[in-house]
Amino acid sequence: MCSFFSQILTQECLLCTAADGGDLGLCASCQQDLPWHKAPCCPQCALPSSQGLLCGHCLTSPPAFDHTHALLRYDFPLDAMLQGYKYRDMLHMARVFGHLLGESVSARPRPDRLIPMPLHPLRLRERGYNQSLEVARIISKALDIALDYSSCERIKFTPPQASLPLKARASNMKGAFACHASLAGERVVLLDDVMTTGASLQALAKAIKKAGAAEVECWVIARTLPR
Ligand SMILES: [Zn+2]
Ligand SMILES: [Zn+2]
Repeated sequence: MCSFFSQILTQECLLCTAADGGDLGLCASCQQDLPWHKAPCCPQCALPSSQGLLCGHCLTSPPAFDHTHALLRYDFPLDAMLQGYKYRDMLHMARVFGHLLGESVSARPRPDRLIPMPLHPLRLRERGYNQSLEVARIISKALDIALDYSSCERIKFTPPQASLPLKARASNMKGAFACHASLAGERVVLLDDVMTTGASLQALAKAIKKAGAAEVECWVIARTLPR
């Protein structure tokens, strides 16, 4: 009886050949080897900065969001994991990302609501799920934060950011979001999978500040860092 249960509770590691991937399906050594974003970084945009001070870019032209927390660097093997999660229906990965990101933000001040990056309805139909929403569901439940995936919508159908040159990404996102709720005085957290130029988060944060939010923080699974 006992061994039967331990067999179904033990999952193989999704990254290596270890038989015991534990509860998340990721063994301890693969978890440790993930590209954690630990370098001192700018508190506002999470790009590496000297001694963790505000970077020059955020000083001269501050983004609409006030803080960014990035769990990992967008490097191997996380890039492949996120691609699989986003484009190959590997929905079970939401548990891994939700658990790891949730754990890393559990000591931060609790926001009034958690808003996952909205997908355009056409994109949602094509993919079948919103990858940021699935991770946000897990964090909302674990940390008891109100999940809000209806106040904001993506009103502009745009080519995927990843398919565009970096310079074109800000204009691609201009006016992409609308926020229908009043968020007066609220502390809002935006959740996205990958932050590269930050153009999507910037456009969404702008819409959310326009709706009255007092503070906007970004929580992202991965940050693309300059090499
Ligand atoms: Zn492993
Ligand atoms: Zn910065």
